[in-house]
Amino acid sequence: MRSTASVLHLDLDAFFAAVEQRDKPSLRGKPVIVGGTGGRGVVATASYEARTFGVGSAMSGREARARCPHAAFLSGRFHAYRETSAWVMEVLRELSPLVEPLSLDEAFVDLAAADLPDLEVSTVTAAGERLRQRVHEVTGGLTATVGIASSKFLAKVASELDKPDGMTVVPPGTELTLLRPMKVTVIPGVGPATAERLRRAGIHTIAELEAVEEDELVRLLGQAQGHGLWQLARARDPRPVLAERETKSISVEGTYDTDLNDRRVMEGLLARQARDVGARMRKNGFSGRTVTIKVRLHDFTTLNRSSTLSSPTDDGTTIARIARSLLADLDTTGGVRLLGVGVSGLADWVQEDLFGSTPEEDEAEEVRLLEPPRRTWPPGADVVHDEMGQGWVWGSGSGVVTVRFETAETPPGPVRSFRDDDPALRRLEPPAED
Ligand SMILES: [Mg+2]
Repeated sequence: MRSTASVLHLDLDAFFAAVEQRDKPSLRGKPVIVGGTGGRGVVATASYEARTFGVGSAMSGREARARCPHAAFLSGRFHAYRETSAWVMEVLRELSPLVEPLSLDEAFVDLAAADLPDLEVSTVTAAGERLRQRVHEVTGGLTATVGIASSKFLAKVASELDKPDGMTVVPPGTELTLLRPMKVTVIPGVGPATAERLRRAGIHTIAELEAVEEDELVRLLGQAQGHGLWQLARARDPRPVLAERETKSISVEGTYDTDLNDRRVMEGLLARQARDVGARMRKNGFSGRTVTIKVRLHDFTTLNRSSTLSSPTDDGTTIARIARSLLADLDTTGGVRLLGVGVSGLADWVQEDLFGSTPEEDEAEEVRLLEPPRRTWPPGADVVHDEMGQGWVWGSGSGVVTVRFETAETPPGPVRSFRDDDPALRRLEPPAED
């Protein structure tokens, strides 16, 4: 913990959904759900309008549809999210050379390395407000919530307090006053299972956590997480902002003597692996946002498929649900000889050095997931028509594709339907990935 409020955490609000609302004017102010299309996948991000209906990330598409049937369900455009994220990270790096991205929509910034006259509360507050304004400008209207405090932990907690489009600065010396009444679940890395274990021990708030001896926490949660939580309950978090950050992953896989052919068996094995992954994550106080499955076919072709959530999980049931939905999109008719489940993009809130493995976080795979190759006209995809110009796929089926013709720069536009093999209508391909 520093003596100044010089760690800034920025979190873009409902990021994927906000990018869609920017680029699709008719969806502004309306419920938008990215992911969970086609009834099988899970929700990646819900706009705030959809959240009021109880839709949240990691929820199954079916459940989201039941809660908010009139929402726009979009399959996602990772190239647009990545481009917008790059603009934001550039703005952050203009403020300070020390920027640690946590994901496309979140980063820490070390204000001590910024070119500020001092690190007084009033100075960092003004810098935070200028930053939010700049982000709004360069992204074409997206909002961000900012937390500024004396450590990563407190900055992250602070950025949760005034969402969306807000800012909280925690003056040095007031950290414990802020933390004590809060639930232990505000500590990143305290997922549902850890919270339950603490609850059974009568620990609900950080004040109650602070009152527990370190030995007892270690007995309850294991060495790494017990010690880590004991420190965080005292607002002690010395971790520096690191410009280069290694992503970590936890995975479990199994190879099989005879090829698996039965889908239900595969799903059962994935579910068991997902529970193991979740248990290992919780044991070490980690959570992560990208769930990956690895499937090796009878001919030794290895497929990796990933899905990224907008908030971290360490829950085996959630991981299993995502793993199953990823498997559902693969053709495994020839048989499978290896199955694996992993979670990466881990929020390493407790200790850094527990895992040696590095993930192969393949962003191209995310694009493939969100834009399924078998569906030529995924909802939300950018298209162009020879006469009508640019628009996006509103829906398709029965040989018809319906398009709304509008872009970020136009007012809400008209809807037209075409035959799905109409040569005048084409997908606008995202720029090639480098
Ligand atoms: Mg966010």
